[in-house]
Amino acid sequence: MNKDDSQRIAGLLTQEGFVPARDETEADVLVFNTCCVRKNADDRLYGQVGALKPVKIERPDLVIAVGGCLAQMEGTDLQEKMPHVDVVFGTHNVAELPALIEKVLTGRESSCLVDESSRGFTSDLPAARQDRWRAWLPITVGCDNHCTYCIVPRVRGPEKSRPKEQLVQDCRDLVLDGVKEVTLLGQNVNSYGRDIYGSPKFSELLKELATLDGLERIRFLTSHPKDLNDEIIDTVASEPSVCPHFHLPLQSGSDRILRAMNRKYTSAQYLSLIETIRQKVDDVSITTDIMVGFPGETEEDFLNTLRVVKASRFDNAFTFIYSERPGTAAAELAQSVPPEVIKDRFKRLIVVQNENSFDNNKRMVGKNVSVYIEGLSKKGRHRLAARTKTNKLVHLDGEDRLIGQYVNVEIEEAFSWFMVGKGNSVV
Ligand code: SAH
Ligand code: SF4
Repeated sequence: MNKDDSQRIAGLLTQEGFVPARDETEADVLVFNTCCVRKNADDRLYGQVGALKPVKIERPDLVIAVGGCLAQMEGTDLQEKMPHVDVVFGTHNVAELPALIEKVLTGRESSCLVDESSRGFTSDLPAARQDRWRAWLPITVGCDNHCTYCIVPRVRGPEKSRPKEQLVQDCRDLVLDGVKEVTLLGQNVNSYGRDIYGSPKFSELLKELATLDGLERIRFLTSHPKDLNDEIIDTVASEPSVCPHFHLPLQSGSDRILRAMNRKYTSAQYLSLIETIRQKVDDVSITTDIMVGFPGETEEDFLNTLRVVKASRFDNAFTFIYSERPGTAAAELAQSVPPEVIKDRFKRLIVVQNENSFDNNKRMVGKNVSVYIEGLSKKGRHRLAARTKTNKLVHLDGEDRLIGQYVNVEIEEAFSWFMVGKGNSVV
């Protein structure tokens, strides 16, 4: 979501006549798009913008703008802490950024604009896409779930869905612009539509988008386990262009901790959901988010997380150490888990998950899969990097002309993080 916002900011500024600088030392305007989901994201922003203080003294004409979730949370406090910041713009004020920058450029007037709620959708703004063939499309903004550890509802506001007809039109426009793959974004895509006229369902949206010619792959994230239903799973199983991949954050395998997190499912319900997905969707991949060190997490709670992680056989997991976020319900809880215990659990979790990833990739060896050639691989002995429909990375040899094409590959070798394949034919 944050990366999509960055592309919209870039698109908007490009439309206004700004051009991208070669690097930050050459830029007249620097825009930071921030995250505040964990404390290390805050720290990085303060570190990077703090380091610009001497630069600003040397080049007083430099415009520094800070937007995104941290800007939304801090508002004018951010400029009090760092007076060399010219513009602070909140998550609902991306559209106003060019005007705010203009104000600084013409009158050297700094400003802070942080609205409480959104009037439009960032999807209405132009996006400077990194890849011509691939686009993100937010289908909802905000979040109505109040997971006790999470700052997102506070900085992104309540959940708002973009009308289905609008999304279908967005996708038609994207296809005309060369896009073959769309990733639908939402904090919880499964609850799409509840707040708007006619209450369109997420499964209906998927089915409608699947009828669009030229839209080859439809991805979506994130799925909240409490709202992932059979209709959605059946749609993924039956629509060839909807990618068989679910990002289904588990967070914890302990029922006690899940309750304290206000996640609204038990580990048994989660596991049965995984089983249903695997039964219904062929060659599906399932990825997740897991957190360790939630206040009060005992060794027994953690062992339950390891148990569920093993049983779920995730293809990949984003693993996090719990970070206290001011203003959340969990921030009121006393942290009883010592940092070294948390670090140890974190390492043990990664070991178990790496085995899962490796086992799943090993099962692919000898199989033929269709991949999309994304570009040159950044490292390793193979030239090209490609993605399966399940969002797994495959490296292979081949000529540059294959970039942007679908190719059938035979998987020859597996690692935890990627696979190596041999291209057979262009699809
Ligand atoms: N809407 C998505 C999550 C968005 S945040 C969902 O519900 O799954 C992405 C991930 O960051 C979360 O899944 C969670 O694992 C992690 N996260 C959120 N708040 C956190 C916190 N305070 N400390 C550590 N990790 C956190
Ligand atoms: Fe945060 Fe929970 Fe909403 Fe995800 S569903 S954004 S974790 S409150």
